[in-house]
Order: sequence, then C-alpha cells, then structure tokens
Amino acid sequence: MTQASAHVRSFVDDAVSWHRTASEEPLLRLVRSACSGVSHDVGAAYATLAARTGALLDAIDRSQLALPLDERERAVRFARRLRRLRTMPAESEDAELRASIVEIFELASDDRIAQSEAPELASEFELAEPLPPEEAAGVPGWRRHFSASALNAYAECARKWFYRYACPAIEDRGSAASAYGSAFHLALEDFHGEFPRPASEQSTAMRRRIRECVTWAFERYRDGFETAVEFDLQVRRAQRTAQRYVDWLVAQEKDAPFEVLGREVAAELNLDGRPFVGYIDRLDRDERTGGIGVVDYKTGSIATSASEYCQKVHDFRDFQLPFYYWARTAAGDSVSRLVLIPLKDALIDVQPIVLHVGKTIRIDELERSRARMIELSAELASGAIRRFDPTADSSACAYCAYATACARKPPSEAQRFGS
Ligand code: SF4
Repeated sequence: MTQASAHVRSFVDDAVSWHRTASEEPLLRLVRSACSGVSHDVGAAYATLAARTGALLDAIDRSQLALPLDERERAVRFARRLRRLRTMPAESEDAELRASIVEIFELASDDRIAQSEAPELASEFELAEPLPPEEAAGVPGWRRHFSASALNAYAECARKWFYRYACPAIEDRGSAASAYGSAFHLALEDFHGEFPRPASEQSTAMRRRIRECVTWAFERYRDGFETAVEFDLQVRRAQRTAQRYVDWLVAQEKDAPFEVLGREVAAELNLDGRPFVGYIDRLDRDERTGGIGVVDYKTGSIATSASEYCQKVHDFRDFQLPFYYWARTAAGDSVSRLVLIPLKDALIDVQPIVLHVGKTIRIDELERSRARMIELSAELASGAIRRFDPTADSSACAYCAYATACARKPPSEAQRFGS
C-alpha cells in the first residue's frame, strides 16, 4: 500500500469511528489529516482549540481562528462534510458507510480504498528547492501594557517570558495548581465582600460562609481539574486551609484589627511612559494607625520569611509588592504594609509575611526596584532583544508550562549528577 492510500484508509477508519461513536479523538485526527482538505497548520490549530473546548465543529462554525478567506472556506467545507456524514443512519453497513465517506470527502477512489492512490496527496512528498535562510531579526518590541508578573517571568527566565508573551504558537494550557489559585482567590474575594471587618464574635458565621464561598468558587473552576478525584481532593484541601484562614482572622482582630477597603483592586502605574497594570487581591486599612496594607494571597510556593522576600526584591527577582506599593502610592494612599498571605498548606497555620514599609523594607529598596522595572520594560519594548536565553537554574523548569517545547532547558540536578 502506498503512503497516500494509507492516509486515505486511516482517514476513512477515523470517519467511520467518529460516525459510530461521536468521540472527539477520531475527530481531532480527521481535521489534522491531509485528506480533510484543511491545511496542516489550520487543522493542528483547530485540533488544539477543540482539545480544550471539546467542540470542533462549533469552533469552525464560529470561525474562532482568524484565517484568510480560502483557509476558512476549506475549514467550513470540512465541517459541512462531517455534518453530512452524521446524517447517515446509525445502522449503516460498514461498506456503505465507507463508500459514502469517500464520496462526501471526494477522496480519490475506485471503491476500494485500499487500492486508492489519492494522486493529489502525492505532491505532499515532492522535493522543493530550499529557500535561502531568513535573516535573523529580534522579536518586535512589546507594545502592550506591562505587569509585575511579566517582569517576574522575564527575571526568572527570559525564554519563559518569550513563550508566554511573544510566541502564541506555544500554549500554556493551565494546570490544576493555577485553577486552585484562581478558585481560592475568588472564594476570598466573595467572602470579604460580606466580612469587611472580620471580628471574633462572627467566627461561626465566617466559618460557615467561607465554606460556602470555597464550594461555589471551586465549582466555577471545576474544568481546571483533570479528574473528579483531583477536584475533590483540592476542594478538601482548600476547605481546611480556609478554616485556618478564619483562625488567623480571629486572632488578627485582637492584635491588629483591619477593615477591607477593596478586593481585586486595579493597580495602574505609568513608568517612564510605559503602562503597568495589575490587580491587588486585597487593600486593608489598619484600624489603629490608618495605614494602608496591600495584601497578596499566595497559593503556591513563596518566600518563607520577610527577609527572604526582601532579598528577592533586592536581587530583582520579584517585582510584585514593589509595583503595588508604587501604584497605590501614586493613587494617593499612605501604604504602610505589604503582606503576603500563604495559603498553600492546609496542615499549618496561616502566617502572613509582613513587610513594614520603611522598616522591614526600605524605601530606597522599593525605589531600586522601580528603577529596574523601568529598565526591563524599556528593554522589552525596544525590539532589540535577539535571543531569549533559557535560565541556568533548572529548578525554574520543574513546573514550567513550556518545558516540553523548550529544547534548551538546563538539565535537572538529577540528570547532572546521574551522568
Ligand atoms: S523549561 Fe526552563 S529554560 Fe525553558 S522556558 Fe521553562 S523555565 Fe525557561
């Protein structure tokens, strides 16, 4: 059997399988097949999209990919043909179904697919003259807004920044960890809408309400977890952590009562003509001093002490709290505290990392950080960066969403010592 006829045969097999089972798996192979009439890149892009949404035909109907007219028409024709195939009776005989598929998709055929040569596919293997290599050029300068998390990514690994912000071909499909973080943030946002002044006499009501907020928020993010078991385990972990969070609120009321002024507060700052944006998880006012506290919830790994976090700021490895500080200061607030609340571990008490401005973290450190933000954003906006080098620190690669695509990542410790 020639390669072309093998293509046709597996295309027909997949079409039969899809007709019989309506499963997405053969459908995704169909759209990527050379027999689909859809170009390879477009088929692969739609397959990637449908693997996430599970609705290939709808995605094509809604033209979810911006395509040139001829590409779009080919995709729409492919979807139309599939729908025609779907109208075939479920009890159709195999032979009848196969013949219809050959006819509907206009596959080169003499009724026996195994002998089909699909002449139009032969050109796929024709050799072409090599094109002269393109001259290397830098990635176009970044023209949109900046954020502290983008600079954190760039500081951690320039290549990671490139994959995340400049190279749409490599997709971050998200992870259970990011779904957990988003759900927990949403739960606390709702919770503090009802409890802006947490007080110990409301302890029972707070415990009940936070349980409901976590349940509801995780339902919203259910699709971010691959299995029902993982979802259940993560909800339980979040519920335990949320109760510890209430323990901390109750204790905090005695030590340093506060009022929540805002949740998911937009932070905007113009640094040397370049716009920076972000969202502050929570903005508090200390009821005794009137100072403003910027609070960031952390559901992943973070620094374990204020001095460790300050060192990261000093080394230009973290810009988040300095950015929030300058954004709120520019908005007229007198920011006295920058706070990270670790919410990763359900087994230990919540112990926030508090940076007192002017004491734990000096203003000149915050100014250094702002100056570096300006330098880095100028670098990224310049369009002059010709190489986005991978990090030398292999620990950064452990949970990197782009690790599969990244051919030049450093070997892990285990690999280095094993070789
Ligand atoms: S795998 Fe490692 S080197 Fe590659 S982008 Fe991710 S962090 Fe950077």
